[in-house]
Amino acid sequence: MSPRRIGLMSALPQELAAVLAHMPHEQRQRLAGRDYWPGHVGDTEVVAVVTGIGKVAAATTATLLIERYGVTGMVFTGVAGGLGDGVAVGDVVVANGLLQHDMDASPLCPRHEVPGYGQSVFATEAAWTAQLEQAARRAQARWASQLGPATVATYGLQHPKTHTGLVISGDRFVATAPESQALRQRLPQALAVEMEGAAVAQVCHDFGVPLAVVRTISDRADDSAHVDFNQFVADVASATSASMVLDWLTQLGATQGQK
Ligand code: SAH
Repeated sequence: MSPRRIGLMSALPQELAAVLAHMPHEQRQRLAGRDYWPGHVGDTEVVAVVTGIGKVAAATTATLLIERYGVTGMVFTGVAGGLGDGVAVGDVVVANGLLQHDMDASPLCPRHEVPGYGQSVFATEAAWTAQLEQAARRAQARWASQLGPATVATYGLQHPKTHTGLVISGDRFVATAPESQALRQRLPQALAVEMEGAAVAQVCHDFGVPLAVVRTISDRADDSAHVDFNQFVADVASATSASMVLDWLTQLGATQGQK
């Protein structure tokens, strides 16, 4: 039996579709409003799940993955808005840490610090983050042939980059230039903004479960974010998410038993 069982999480069904296509024989299980697919990808035991959008949905799903399904680690994948300079649509951001940008218990404790934890940033699993960075680069090299020239041209995916750094989460779809500018000023080290990762990171911290988060940039969190986001999710997000996660799982499978 595999020593590992990895939770594969995405907020939206479109983000997980191509991963699920690699698990054609698995049975869906409905639990607390979510769909879970326990099964295998290659030699690795996995549980795939669509978490729904936002921090609470992601946190309850992560908790059930651990408590009900006994996962020993999890990977969250999907799309995010680019914040950092040079973080463009089609780039990949691998999180080395996650922060809740809407957490603010000041003046009781510093802004962004999670009360009771004494910290605002929750780290991801360093080894997995490094592996996913490599997996993302390999996957990006395949996107042109996988997605076709028209999609590559539409989304400017000719030379996508991979970045590693801080990802911030909050219960807001950031879709105006002033709001993304304010976030950039307040948290200049943030590369991308999304709505789930930091909540999952807090749960994983509580349970001592390793986590990785890898996001493809769908929009720049600016005034055209809603248009860019919807098109990217419809056309690209499923393939890009799966290409990275499946590549990484193959690697993990190859190292199975070495640990
Ligand atoms: N259209 C959806 C809402 C999507 S919310 C609906 O109607 O239900 C955006 C999702 O993509 C979230 O899961 C979040 O993690 C990610 N995301 C992408 N771009 C984002 C941005 N600019 N701000 C916040 N989250 C973003």
